[in-house]
Amino acid sequence: MLEVIGLSHAYDDHAALAGISFDVRARELVSVVGPSGCGKSTLLRAIAGLIRPAAGEIRLAGRPVSGIPAGLAVVFQDYSRSLLPWMSVRDNVMFPLRRRALGRAGRRRAADAALAEVGLAEAAGRFPWQLSGGMQQRVAIARALAYRPSLLLMDEPFGSVDAQTREDLEDLLLRVRADTDMTILLVTHDIDESVYVGDRILVMGRAPGRVLADLAVDLPTARDRIETRELPAFIRLRSAVGRLVRDNAPGLVAGGRSAPDARSGHPQPDRPG
Ligand code: ADP
Repeated sequence: MLEVIGLSHAYDDHAALAGISFDVRARELVSVVGPSGCGKSTLLRAIAGLIRPAAGEIRLAGRPVSGIPAGLAVVFQDYSRSLLPWMSVRDNVMFPLRRRALGRAGRRRAADAALAEVGLAEAAGRFPWQLSGGMQQRVAIARALAYRPSLLLMDEPFGSVDAQTREDLEDLLLRVRADTDMTILLVTHDIDESVYVGDRILVMGRAPGRVLADLAVDLPTARDRIETRELPAFIRLRSAVGRLVRDNAPGLVAGGRSAPDARSGHPQPDRPG
């Protein structure tokens, strides 16, 4: 579905990505994890056709990406800039559906179903500026889901929601993966999350950005937020990813530990205690 071949990119003379290659199969959910500044957002921008990489190639379904691909949806980290303030929440979600042959009633149904999935059925008639940051981010997620893209790119989509909502949204993503044909690339700082939702994990290192490891997530497809995290395979993988991130993150704090990378409230396997 997606092929990234020898992708390099630099901002002025600052190398952000150095020869990244990987493939993603259709319907896979691939987590991309790595320290801040390793080029995760740059990678997504290149796949979305928003920047032209200095070298290398990106292919979607066999065709080189040379602009914004059809059938793509992106959930950006910066929710505050992704919604149209003069449109209601429902209209924001319906907006990209103009391209779908659904009719107004069909678009409205799709938007309302997606809003219900992210727990915002009640907010459909409100405006983005009347919602908290976390709610706005869930609207952006609903808009992407309603569109039913073939490729969904998500850049830290759960960064601004509370821990409980975040777990709900992780489970929503697992349902989407099971029930639809979407291929999903999820950039996350959160090592725990990268394992819990992923079929595969790309671990990136920085200076400049490269792929350190491409790990298969050898866990049952049906996941449970408590039981899956108790499985030895989960714990082993979380530790392996944690070590890779820790050992390849420049700017280590005293004691040789990495800067905080996972959300608070979750034990970090790479730390004593
Ligand atoms: P990540 O998403 O992993 O935090 P980014 O892709 O945002 O990493 O950034 C990779 C590197 O490129 C960083 O060193 C960052 O400072 C730099 N960078 C990102 N965007 C720009 C830009 N628009 N102009 C200049 N440098 C940038």
